[in-house]
Amino acid sequence: MPTTIPQPTATEPSARTYRAAVVHDFHAPLSVEQVSRVALEPGQVRVKVEASGLCHTDIHAANGDWPVKPSPPFVPGHEGIGLVTELGPGVIEVAVGDRVGMPWLGYACGTCDHCVSGWETLCLEQKNMGYSIDGGFGEYATAYGRYVVKVPDGIDPFDAAPLTCAGVTTYKAVKVAGTRSSDLVAVFGVGGLGHLAIQYAAIAGGRVVAVDVLDEKLELARELGAEFTINAANDDPAEAIQRLGGADQAIALAVSPRAFEQAYGSLRRGGTLVFVALPADNEVKLPIFETVLNGITVVGSIVGTRAELREVFALHAAGKTRVIREVRPLDQVNESIADVEAGRVAARIVFEP
Ligand SMILES: [Zn+2]
Ligand SMILES: [Zn+2]
Repeated sequence: MPTTIPQPTATEPSARTYRAAVVHDFHAPLSVEQVSRVALEPGQVRVKVEASGLCHTDIHAANGDWPVKPSPPFVPGHEGIGLVTELGPGVIEVAVGDRVGMPWLGYACGTCDHCVSGWETLCLEQKNMGYSIDGGFGEYATAYGRYVVKVPDGIDPFDAAPLTCAGVTTYKAVKVAGTRSSDLVAVFGVGGLGHLAIQYAAIAGGRVVAVDVLDEKLELARELGAEFTINAANDDPAEAIQRLGGADQAIALAVSPRAFEQAYGSLRRGGTLVFVALPADNEVKLPIFETVLNGITVVGSIVGTRAELREVFALHAAGKTRVIREVRPLDQVNESIADVEAGRVAARIVFEP
């Protein structure tokens, strides 16, 4: 415990409203408009947003694609980075002026079995930034002091944003995969997540084979450390990876059930398939017989904990990772969503509010 507890500070005599990108209707464009500033509840902090990444999850949220839907109106964004400007009652974890990341895990109960065993990401009481809590697509955001993660000095906020979801999610997926030195790791999908997954798999000692349908993404994959690349539009990636001996682990990051099936088919005996992407089409077909006889593990992995996000930031601060991103004004939110859906973005778009 700190010896001096910072007192809640009422600061920022700023306007009663601020600009944010709001979802009013699934399948309608987001509206960039003035929203009301709300009073902070106990445990909450106000953050002046500097950068906010656009994740595929934000697009699924805005479209209401998944079985559990957010309730409009809401503000997407779970890669928000900004400076704390105001503390609600009882906040001791951060101080005014701290730069923080506001990840998908916006709140958890802190006391259930999941929370106390290092699996806070499975907490049933969790609230999610940009889904059940208004997220980072605005000039300001409200978050819980206990669940924001401080960004170390020296990290550019526009790099920190993609690390806050794409980074920690793929970092965790590589941990869940159990990658060890010399393992062959197949990364399916080289986008916002995939370009970081390649780097974390390599950091863990894996030899990486990257799969995508666009040659420019495969070139990026090679720049970032992939030893092999396969264009799935030209070659069957499962067969091509089997020719390399089969993957010890495959990480499914492309939002297509077909890519999940190809990832399964790329595994060697005893291999592990990690489900990470969340396609709108929620079904995948896997064979039982081969799963049993080949001793295959299939495991889902959802984001990462606060501790893992700290590790991700520390790796970046140490110069071990490269974030590929493009900065755009928040006003371009709808065009940016269209570009992500059409695959016209190298890796990540990060908004400046
Ligand atoms: Zn995300
Ligand atoms: Zn909990």
